[in-house]
Amino acid sequence: MTREDWHNRAASLLIDGRGLIDGKRVASLSEETFASISPIDGRLLTDVALMGAQDVDLAVASARRTFEAGVWSGRAPAERKAVLRRLADLIRAHRDELALLETLDMGKPISDSTSIDVRATSNCFDWYGEAIDKIYDEVAPTAANTLALVTKEPLGVVAAVVPWNFPMLMAAWKVAPALAMGNSVVLKPAEQSSLTALRLGELALEAGVPPGVFNVVTGLGPEVGRALGLHMDIDGLFFTGSTQVGKYFMEYAAQSNLKKIGLELGGKSPNIILKSYRDTAHAAQTSARSAFFNQGEMCTCPSRLIVERAVHDEVVEVLTKTAAEFVPGDPLDPATTMGALVDHRHTERVLGFVDTAREDGADLRLGGTRERAETGGCYVAPTIFDNVRNEMRVAQQEIFGPMLSVIPVDSVDEAIKVANDSCYGLASAVWTDDLSTAHHVSRGIRAGLVYVNCYDCDDMTVPFGGFKQSGIGRDKSLHALDKYAELKTTWIALGR
Ligand code: NAD
Repeated sequence: MTREDWHNRAASLLIDGRGLIDGKRVASLSEETFASISPIDGRLLTDVALMGAQDVDLAVASARRTFEAGVWSGRAPAERKAVLRRLADLIRAHRDELALLETLDMGKPISDSTSIDVRATSNCFDWYGEAIDKIYDEVAPTAANTLALVTKEPLGVVAAVVPWNFPMLMAAWKVAPALAMGNSVVLKPAEQSSLTALRLGELALEAGVPPGVFNVVTGLGPEVGRALGLHMDIDGLFFTGSTQVGKYFMEYAAQSNLKKIGLELGGKSPNIILKSYRDTAHAAQTSARSAFFNQGEMCTCPSRLIVERAVHDEVVEVLTKTAAEFVPGDPLDPATTMGALVDHRHTERVLGFVDTAREDGADLRLGGTRERAETGGCYVAPTIFDNVRNEMRVAQQEIFGPMLSVIPVDSVDEAIKVANDSCYGLASAVWTDDLSTAHHVSRGIRAGLVYVNCYDCDDMTVPFGGFKQSGIGRDKSLHALDKYAELKTTWIALGR
């Protein structure tokens, strides 16, 4: 489709901003709404239901009722598989609509929404659907006169609270394994990006997920998110978002029913380019592409580029050239490589780091400017700070925008020390051709993901998550299924 096609389609799109509870699209009990504004040009997309604690009660009651009734939890894994795979097919069949909603809602380029977000979301439902009827429970090696079964059971009612940077995909990473395991789910999308979550809920119904098993509640974090966190009848709450809000969820759990908490939080990922890597230019190009992808709104954004001084000048030159591939443009144009940031508030915060960097003594090498202001949208140029020291605020705080800090170092061990000098531990990378150095650095870095001579490789088969204040637990892979299950030990006396 051309840019014009996408604009025409956007103009005729009918968007329903009501929540989804017990299989029905519903307004909030208060009948209040909030405006969903597109960051691409400030247009009003729709009014979204402004739900509160009482709406959450209804959604949780519906999830509890269906869970206890066994309409989903009691189905054979092969039956749940068939439904989840149908949902994956429906997501693919609605690719353009879902991609358009995602781009209008949070500003990413339409070509990324179609080729990455929708594809990865459908793949995630396929993958957990495919997996769930191939997993066996255990018989423990106990004495001959007893039989001990170790079985996995669904947690029960699961809440998922997700951010706006990959709205549909972050929801899928939680909803797919939770449903596969047999739980009933209440999903709360970020208030900046509610629209694809609501369509996902409708498509799940169409695929055959029984009404009430998958509910979507919309509204503000401190209202709806908090009500979920404090709810006495939710068994597990799985969150992706900022470290600060992740800490709130641990408090909510402690103040309420000690619900199981899973956290996928922020990052400030170190990316180490060493002189022992044969192709400095390739390393620098990949680093820039990974840093500016998705407007830099990535938890794994390699935002701290730690570079050995011997290759520093070449790295900065290539970074600057490669950044030119990312020109903020109309997100509905398939040729656009860099879209809008999620909203004006976030844009102001991101741009504020330009002054912060200057005050702390970093050199602004590129960007630092607002772009396309005449559109009414939220655009920022790719930005590179050089000669950053790791104690500077731009190296310590998560910016979550298209801003990259270059930190020169003198040795491999200094690089590891700088990499670990962060409260975060999500992703990391090292570029070297020396096998021993690759192992030394990858073992030395305290992070959940280490890339060697690459960045942002991705597959459903591998766990995703962080050390330190980047979170607790893992999304993706078979390991993620454990989060949505309780282990039960059943002893059976054999009598003889
Ligand atoms: P956020 O923490 O502000 O919001 C995330 C969710 O929490 C939203 O649904 C929001 O409504 C809700 N929320 C906000 N305040 C709340 C409160 N007081 N109580 C309960 N709920 C509340 O994060 P964001 O700005 O939407 O997303 C950006 C963050 O997400 C970044 O820190 C990024 O690194 C992180 N992230 C992490 C991963 C990962 O897998 N580790 C992936 C994507 C994004």
